[in-house]
Amino acid sequence: MKQLTSYEVAQIQFDKAAKLMNLKKGLQEYLKKPNRELVVNFPVKMDNGEIQLFTGYRVQHNDNRGPFKGGVRYHPNVDIDEVRALASWMTWKCAVVNIPFGGAKGGVTCDPSKLSLAELERMTRRYITEIRPIIGPARDIPAPDVNTNEQTMAWMMDTYSMEEGYSIPDVVTGKPICCGGSLGRREATGRGVMFATKEACLQNKMKLEKCTVAVQGFGNVGSIAAQLIQAEGAKIVAVSDASGGIYNPKGIDVLKAQEHVAKQKSLLGFPGHNKELKLLELPVDILIPAALENQITGDNMKNIKAKIIVEGANGPTTPEADEYLTKKGVFIVPDILANAGGVVVSYFEWVQNIQKLFWDEKEVNDRLQHIIHRAYGEVAKIAAEKKTDMRTAAFVLAIGRVAEATLVRGIFP
Ligand code: NAD
Repeated sequence: MKQLTSYEVAQIQFDKAAKLMNLKKGLQEYLKKPNRELVVNFPVKMDNGEIQLFTGYRVQHNDNRGPFKGGVRYHPNVDIDEVRALASWMTWKCAVVNIPFGGAKGGVTCDPSKLSLAELERMTRRYITEIRPIIGPARDIPAPDVNTNEQTMAWMMDTYSMEEGYSIPDVVTGKPICCGGSLGRREATGRGVMFATKEACLQNKMKLEKCTVAVQGFGNVGSIAAQLIQAEGAKIVAVSDASGGIYNPKGIDVLKAQEHVAKQKSLLGFPGHNKELKLLELPVDILIPAALENQITGDNMKNIKAKIIVEGANGPTTPEADEYLTKKGVFIVPDILANAGGVVVSYFEWVQNIQKLFWDEKEVNDRLQHIIHRAYGEVAKIAAEKKTDMRTAAFVLAIGRVAEATLVRGIFP
């Protein structure tokens, strides 16, 4: 079967849910499309004095429920199509967890492992300057995604603030604590994945502490999810990153693996490292894809052995594999619910910045748990009522909320 683009995947998911809803054709067409797309081609001075051209994007999908919100990705595969898909998933994610944001995403096509820190800083500052006309604390608030982190957010916040003439912390979230970040934000997506995994175990009458778990991707989302799920008593038997993976049926010490990655930048060299490990196909109870899109596909779906899949990454499962695995009885917690913890605590960070009043970490984590629990319950209820899977139910809930806001606001003019 032809490999679908991420945007095609997002559209198929939308259409499947829309079929169960009573939406007018024109409204459906409008909700599928991004509202605004900006492509920027810009120069960066490299350390050797040469000028290099970079292409960046900011796609704003829908802001009918509140300001646009979404991460920025640095990766060689970033293109307009991927950014469109990720932007639309942000709209549905914010609506599923019922926080007052719309959806956007940004990215720069680049290989950050080949850039020095100084080059990364100059590229980030120029990218933010290029997209500045359409972002802002009340318009569109970027955040971290693949290969961007707290440091990247600090540069973005500083650039925007320098250009405006005063400090504006609420223009981005995922900042370091010292310049307006929220306690618990760095761990938030992984923590949300852990909460969603606990909910899924409860619903499927499985005891998390008796489960074996494999986690693909050992960055912000995967490494924290593995750490917190291990702390809940489950056995993490496999982890992987772009360099390969580790499989140990007796369990992996996640904290040791994190220490290794902090020093060595990847899992390469960690005892038992295997470049060829097919982590997704291992015999585990719970599988957590937390790397990139299009990982569970027609090519490997028949070899998946997990009973539960919790999507830490955005778009890791293709529609073909989704349908096959769901029919087979594999329980999938979709990305727009499972990894929403990051944007929920980004929302808390934005609120704290606006109020100039900071919460302690317990308050952040408790509120996050409450929101994931509430959203999970609402999605599970729709899945039961409509006799459908969790992904379609999550889309029904989200599209319904965005459609209602659109119609109540009215079509301008
Ligand atoms: P990251 O850059 O911190 O980590 C990405 C990890 O994936 C790295 O360990 C990398 O080596 C690994 N990886 C890349 N290609 C791989 C491959 N082929 N096989 C195995 N591992 C591979 O990024 P992140 O922030 O952890 O994001 C991971 C996923 O989670 C993305 O899909 C992202 O969109 C999604 N997400 C992130 C957040 C967030 O707050 N950071 C929130 C929601 C969703």
